[in-house]
Amino acid sequence: MSGDPKQILILGGGFAGVYTARYLEKLLRPGEASITLINRENYWVYQPMLPDIISGSIGLTNVVSPIRRLCPRTNLIMREVRDINLKDQIVTISPGFRPRHLQLKYDYLVIALGSITNFHGMPGMMENAMPFRTLADAMVLRNHLIHVLEEADVEGNPELRRQLLTFVVGGGGFSGVEVMAELNDFVRSVKKNYLRLRDEPHRCVIVQAGDRILPEMSEPLAVFAQRILRQRGIEIILNDRLKAAMSERAILQSGAEIFCKTLISTVPSALPPIVQNLDCPKERGKLLVNRGLELKDHEGKVWALGDCAAIKTMAGATVPPTAQHAIREATTAAINIAAAVRGGRRAKFEFEGLGTLGSVGHGAAVAQIFGLKLSGFHAWLLWRGIYLMKMPGLNRKVRIATDWLLHALFPPELAQTKVAFESGIRKQHFEPGDIIFQQGDLGDSVYVIEEGQCEALREHNGKQELLASLDRGAYFGEMALLSNRTRNATIRACTAMDVLIIPKIDFDKLRQSVPAFGNVFNELAKQRGVTEAPH
Ligand SMILES: Cc1cc2nc3c(=O)[nH]c(=O)nc-3n(C[C@H](O)[C@H](O)[C@H](O)COP(=O)(O)OP(=O)(O)OC[C@H]3O[C@@H](n4cnc5c(N)ncnc54)[C@H](O)[C@@H]3O)c2cc1C
Repeated sequence: MSGDPKQILILGGGFAGVYTARYLEKLLRPGEASITLINRENYWVYQPMLPDIISGSIGLTNVVSPIRRLCPRTNLIMREVRDINLKDQIVTISPGFRPRHLQLKYDYLVIALGSITNFHGMPGMMENAMPFRTLADAMVLRNHLIHVLEEADVEGNPELRRQLLTFVVGGGGFSGVEVMAELNDFVRSVKKNYLRLRDEPHRCVIVQAGDRILPEMSEPLAVFAQRILRQRGIEIILNDRLKAAMSERAILQSGAEIFCKTLISTVPSALPPIVQNLDCPKERGKLLVNRGLELKDHEGKVWALGDCAAIKTMAGATVPPTAQHAIREATTAAINIAAAVRGGRRAKFEFEGLGTLGSVGHGAAVAQIFGLKLSGFHAWLLWRGIYLMKMPGLNRKVRIATDWLLHALFPPELAQTKVAFESGIRKQHFEPGDIIFQQGDLGDSVYVIEEGQCEALREHNGKQELLASLDRGAYFGEMALLSNRTRNATIRACTAMDVLIIPKIDFDKLRQSVPAFGNVFNELAKQRGVTEAPH
């Protein structure tokens, strides 16, 4: 060996990225190559156990593991990858405390950036549906569930209470089913702690595009899972899909509407924008690789694996986006990178999958493994055993096993772990006929119309009067904030609308810090006060 060590850059710290780094640490000596891994977070997430966060059956930090401990010889850069220049072999990374981009040159590159949930073309989903992929998603969902239960307990309006106690999951694959099973078990067991909810029914709905849930499994097991879920009170809507979402309801392709305050979507998935923007051969958006997992047209220099790569099995089928495949892909890529660094044996990806396992809640699971089909409690024990075994590190194994034991002995934890103050300007989508606010409501936000039209209506002596029609670019809702009174008109969407919502706290800050901003609204309020326009 002569010269400087080769620079190996791994993008993404999920199953594919972290396991590649771990194998490379075993295969290469420090003098042969320097390994750098770039990931948004400084931890690796064991995604198959994420649903356990919902009920708190596993502690928040026990489903993650610090990458620095998993890969002790790898340089970790906890930043965002911004650009990949395949021609010049340079990766650009986001700024940190210093507002400067960082550029890294590589000899060998591994792209393992996973996938994202994509709500493109689904109005209102971005604002109202919760994805479920990351630790943050799981924490947000758990806090949200506790919040809606607290609200339902004090809500006097039965219709709104029903909405608060309705939970919808889009996607009936493994992650959708596991999320709903955990959510349902959690709500069922903690409802008894809410005096007014004890006898109140709650509604859980899975919406699945196909004619059965769990398309990853054989039909009899999927049918068994459906039966168990239905016995536990979960509704399953088949052959339909989520189309749009408002703050009060989910809208399905068939036109059906479900009034709810909790909408979780595990589908559809797409590639991260940085991968989408890469100019290289792709198959259905995924990076096209050969059997050695080398990126097409960049063989010997770039490898792509995990959920962002289009990989074929030996039999020619498409490799599914699962952790068990990502781990085996990492072995293949690491062997081939080591061979590129110092010569030697090369490997082909030949793994066909061991089987599939999934929990359906309350001590039942379905498993299809080594040709065996299991369901019920035995499958659940197997599911837990295998997942525990696969968790790297004795430390985490012990913590998780202890968490599971405590969860079996005591009721689930019900404390909210909210840390951020919920505020901030946000977008919202409304459909024709939706009420944006009602006359008599408290003024909590100002609204700016980005798209669409609405009308302002005032009720007087039992009659409704049209005050004004408002278009794109118009503002409304300022008067109640400026005068500290309740809304004196109702605003109703006439067309589909996209609205920017500025909460009172931010509105007040902007008015104080930017006098010109405040003047716009003071003038508007004066005009509307004179002409009796909506506020
Ligand atoms: C809820 C859930 C349950 C699942 N259950 C199972 C199961 O039971 N069995 C199974 O086999 N599989 C399961 N999966 C699928 C499995 O987790 C994935 O297939 C696997 O994680 C893919 O690994 P990956 O490394 O390709 O992507 P990921 O694990 O998603 O990792 C990608 C990494 O790249 C990082 N990243 C992305 N873009 C950037 C950027 N621009 N800059 C910096 N970092 C970036 C991300 O933060 C992430 O850490 C489940 C998935 C989910 C969401």
